[in-house]
Amino acid sequence: MSLIHDEAVVLGRIDYSETSQVLVLFTREHGKVRTIAKGIKRGTKARFAVGVDLLDVGHVVFSSHGERSDTLATLTEWKPSRSLWGLREKLFRIHAGQYAAEVTAHLTEDWDAHADLFDALVSTLVALTDAPEPLDLVTRYQFAILDSIGSLPRFDTCVLCDRKEDLTHFSSFEGGLICRHCEPGQVEKREISAGTVKALGASMVHDDHCSQSSGAPAGVFTVLNYHIAHLMGREPVMGSTLVSRFTQRVVE
Ligand SMILES: [Zn+2]
Repeated sequence: MSLIHDEAVVLGRIDYSETSQVLVLFTREHGKVRTIAKGIKRGTKARFAVGVDLLDVGHVVFSSHGERSDTLATLTEWKPSRSLWGLREKLFRIHAGQYAAEVTAHLTEDWDAHADLFDALVSTLVALTDAPEPLDLVTRYQFAILDSIGSLPRFDTCVLCDRKEDLTHFSSFEGGLICRHCEPGQVEKREISAGTVKALGASMVHDDHCSQSSGAPAGVFTVLNYHIAHLMGREPVMGSTLVSRFTQRVVE
C-alpha cells in the first residue's frame, strides 16, 4: 500500500453509502483513478471539510495497492487548488465542463497517465470560468483528447484514396474524411459541409488546433462529437445539448 500525492480533477461522483462517495479522479501523474472518500458527506473529517464537487481541481493524497489491484484507492486528502466558481455562474459553462469530464472519463484508461491532457483539461475549465461562449474551448479540448489517445482523424485528404479535393463525408470507422468518389461504398459516414471541411483541413495545418481567434465553426464540434460518440459507443450526455447550442447560436 503506497501513499500517492498528485493533482486531480473530479470527473465523476457517486454516492456509496450515507457518508461515503466514490470519486472518479483524473490525476496528472497517474491518469484516471477511482477512489473512495470515506466520511466525505458527513464532513466530520477536517480534511474533507469543504466537500468535493464534480469538476473541482485539487491536490490529492490517496493510498492504493497499485494499478493491478481491483480495489478502490482510498482518498485521504483533498485540498482545492483552483477557484472555478465562475464555471457555475452559467449553465452552458457547466455543460461544457461536464462534456469534457465525461469524454475524459470514457476515453482514458485507469492508471494511464496523460499529463498533457490533464493540463489541457485544467486550462479548459479555468478558461470556461469567464467564457462568453464555450464553442472554441470545448472544440480545442476535443482535439486535445483525440490527439492524446491516438485517435485524431485525418482531415487533409480522403483516407481511402488520398484525394485532396471533393471531400464530402466523414467516416469515424475509417478515421477521417472521405471523398465523393469513395463515399458510396461506405456504410458508416456523415455528410460534411464545404465550410466544415475547410475548417477541419486548417486544423491539420495549425498544430494548435482551433486556437485561431476566428473561432471554430459549430460543424467542427459536431464532427468531432460524432467521432467521439463512436469511440465511446454512445453519444456523450451533453453532446446533443452542446450541438444544438452551437448550431442555433444561442446567446445568453
Ligand atoms: Zn476517396
